[in-house]
Amino acid sequence: MVLTVATHPPRSGEGLEMEFDERNNLHQLSPSSWNRFEECPRKYWLSRQGLPRKASMPASMGTAIHNSLEDLCNVDLSGIGSEEENWLPSSAREALEKNWEIEKKLFLNTQRRPRWKSELFPKALDGLFGSLRVLLRKARLDETDLSKVSIGHWKKVQEIVIETESTLVSECGRLMGRLDLLISNLEGGSESWIVADLKTGKPPRGELNENVRRQLLLYRDILKQNRPDHPTVHAEGWYSANQSVHRAKGPPILEEALEAWEGMMPTKEPLEPTPSETSCSFCEWKAWCPSWWNARMDGNLTPGGMFRDEVTLLIRFDEESGAALFERAPPIGNSGDLTKSDHRFGAILKDRALEKMRKMKSSGFEGHLFLGSARVDGKVMHLGDWSEILPWSPLLSSVAHQIQ
Ligand code: SF4
Repeated sequence: MVLTVATHPPRSGEGLEMEFDERNNLHQLSPSSWNRFEECPRKYWLSRQGLPRKASMPASMGTAIHNSLEDLCNVDLSGIGSEEENWLPSSAREALEKNWEIEKKLFLNTQRRPRWKSELFPKALDGLFGSLRVLLRKARLDETDLSKVSIGHWKKVQEIVIETESTLVSECGRLMGRLDLLISNLEGGSESWIVADLKTGKPPRGELNENVRRQLLLYRDILKQNRPDHPTVHAEGWYSANQSVHRAKGPPILEEALEAWEGMMPTKEPLEPTPSETSCSFCEWKAWCPSWWNARMDGNLTPGGMFRDEVTLLIRFDEESGAALFERAPPIGNSGDLTKSDHRFGAILKDRALEKMRKMKSSGFEGHLFLGSARVDGKVMHLGDWSEILPWSPLLSSVAHQIQ
């Protein structure tokens, strides 16, 4: 049996970087913006300038899994016999297929994106099955064979789910977050709640990493503030890959969050950059930030391994074959100005990288280029669907419309 699982349309504002409290005309701190600010204030500042965002396969997969779990939690089971089995795997697959298509469409409509990897669907389905198993365990149903989960079992799961995907806003309107699941905790003698965040990435080996811990504690504490009648509240990260559950522990965090909120005030001037291997390696704003390039050229950041970023000038380009010659453009000063060098390297461009370069050439673009994730192979670089070519555009003054 396959149940028809209603999917929700993409939520408005989902994934947007501009958290904003219109009621008070104030910026808002969310767990992701706070983490970005802590990693590198400039990264946070750049994320609020309305620059084009980059789609990523892990993020789209994660959203499809989250939304499918939510849809299954809310599926209407009225009128179906409680004994019925063999419905959950097929219904989960159907829910994921629908959400996968929604995410795929959004992904393909994003200008900055790599290739959509359809071959990852089975991995996403495993992730969804993993998260269903955690939820079943929380309802004290240890059935690992999902085909044996009856409708009656799932009704028990639905009974412990208090809320799915709800937005939390602090009393002052300055702090916000979107929790995945709020459930009644059946463990322990007295009543308690669990704020759960589903994690589809790599599970931690030991302690939760600081970003996840901060996020979970923020959910916990805004929820406690919003519901004065709450019982004990725990905050947990549920890792679908190995079905491990990690509880975040720590003192109240709202004061710390409000302090960070002060530092995250919109400004015309960019906030300080703090380049480091950790903060810069996956930063999507490198084409607009001169600091990592200065740090790289000063030897304070390593060039990277097999995949590297470069700032260059295009010297030659054969539109037919995709062969190109680039010259590295080292910085002069800290404002993103560049100079010439004698470091030249060949590159082979294909797929989206080749299309992008052809378009830039035909538009007459002749400025410097940021090359992201070029694959090193001996002395030649390879750029394809996995890499990025963007105009080098250091941003040193705010262009956002929300500056107050
Ligand atoms: S590239 Fe590095 S220094 Fe620049 S904004 Fe990103 S994280 Fe900060």
